[in-house]
Amino acid sequence: MSAPNCLRCLVRPSAALRLSAPPPASALKPATPPLTAAASRRAPFSTTPAAAAAPKSSSQGQQAAAKGHVRKGKRLTLKGKKKQKSLDHGKSPLPGERKAYRKRITLSNDNAIKVPWLTDLAAPDLADPANVGKVLALPPTTQDQLRASEAFKPTQTWGMFRQPAVLVRKETVDLTQRMQEAAAARKVLRMVVTGNKVTGKSLMLLQAMTHAFLNEWVVIHLPEAQELTTAVTEYAPLADTSPVQYSQPVYALKLLHAIRKANADVLAKTFTVSEHSELPQSLPAGSPLLAIANQAKEVDSAWVIFQALWNELMAPAPNRPPILLSLDGLAHVMRVSDYRSPAFEPIHAFDLALVRLFTDALGGAVKFPAGGAVLGATSRNNSPRSPSMELALAQREAEQQQQQQPGVEVPQKDPFFRGYDERVDAVLRSVQVLRLGGVDRREARALLEYWAASGMLRTVVDEKAVAEKWTLAGGGVLGEMERASLLTMRV
Ligand code: ATP
Ligand code: MG
Repeated sequence: MSAPNCLRCLVRPSAALRLSAPPPASALKPATPPLTAAASRRAPFSTTPAAAAAPKSSSQGQQAAAKGHVRKGKRLTLKGKKKQKSLDHGKSPLPGERKAYRKRITLSNDNAIKVPWLTDLAAPDLADPANVGKVLALPPTTQDQLRASEAFKPTQTWGMFRQPAVLVRKETVDLTQRMQEAAAARKVLRMVVTGNKVTGKSLMLLQAMTHAFLNEWVVIHLPEAQELTTAVTEYAPLADTSPVQYSQPVYALKLLHAIRKANADVLAKTFTVSEHSELPQSLPAGSPLLAIANQAKEVDSAWVIFQALWNELMAPAPNRPPILLSLDGLAHVMRVSDYRSPAFEPIHAFDLALVRLFTDALGGAVKFPAGGAVLGATSRNNSPRSPSMELALAQREAEQQQQQQPGVEVPQKDPFFRGYDERVDAVLRSVQVLRLGGVDRREARALLEYWAASGMLRTVVDEKAVAEKWTLAGGGVLGEMERASLLTMRV
């Protein structure tokens, strides 16, 4: 029973008293005159709402009197409101299902026409200047390796064609030739691929990886640098490190699975030089490296296994394969990460062990036994600002240009700006820079012809059409060319 909450209730005689007293005469009188038979038949339609409600309200009044007065407006009445119909939205997606859909990669389209003249890439093709301006297909084994390494991006247009194929650009041949030279001299090519939005930076990494896979290198690819530094994966401090470094065991496990799947053949042909008793199942010297990678099953042991594999790849022994270490989204690792130390201090990305492994290699502190390449690609799609990285890349580029045109000025630090990061400066002090822009008209034409042959471009590819598409795409920017010609077709 609700307590009386107003003065009127407090001064009125109690309910028990009132119920025992004889009812007043007015209360016994019917509130409305009795209805005739005809009127009662019409009653639901003819009586006014007030009249219809009258007997009900008197009984409510009695109930209220029995319960005690409750002030009007204190009780929430939902009467009269329309009940919301629950709409049937079908089965809601399971956890992770939406993300999987967003990130799914489709590599073929059965509705696209098969291009008869398309040939598969072979090992030396990407480094052959004769192939510049040709579209070549990725062989099925390489497709699997690239897929395992997450080299294909959902933003690219693989799902429109019968078979994944790439245009060989001048820059592609330039990069792959430098990779070959580095491997031949057992040196490490350290390079950053940069350029404007959708100029093909991620695809350049994919081509470098394709070249590496076809030539039996070991490829370790970090597909999205932001996954390492935006505090979305677990981290744990590593013992015996000063300043403290942090491992990311869940990410390390995922990376080990990718490495094993993509490089199984090469790892099976390379053997350990030392015994590994620290692993979950200890391995004697002379075991294949694949046996190390195969042990990656639990998060707890992932970092130890990754380190063992990395140390073996770095061991100065004969018959070691060249290594390609690549990362997309460089700006994400060239800054202070979103992680915090136990003292709630921000952790610099370079103190994350996996990032440090990459930046040490990019900075030149690590020598690969059989040479190889360390490639980083910037991204304009989603990247934080890193003033030090931007300046360092501009400086390296100017220095490169100086070798051809001695008058080029090298940009300097702004003396009034305090946001530079010395650790980033040190890593990027001696890298090479490959800047991507638009393709030339010959390359643009090759790509347009491939699109037309696949049935995805419904125009005759002649000089006029090429000039139009090339100009519309800001001077042959490949992503813009796709936007102007293909994306209206996207399903
Ligand atoms: P962002 O700055 O957003 O990271 P990006 O420079 O990495 O962009 P990519 O995703 O590599 O751009 O490429 C943009 C589009 O151009 C993709 O859809 C890709 O298919 C196409 N493209 C780039 N290079 C080539 C190539 N060599 N052959 C065929 N298509 C290409
Ligand atoms: Mg990209």
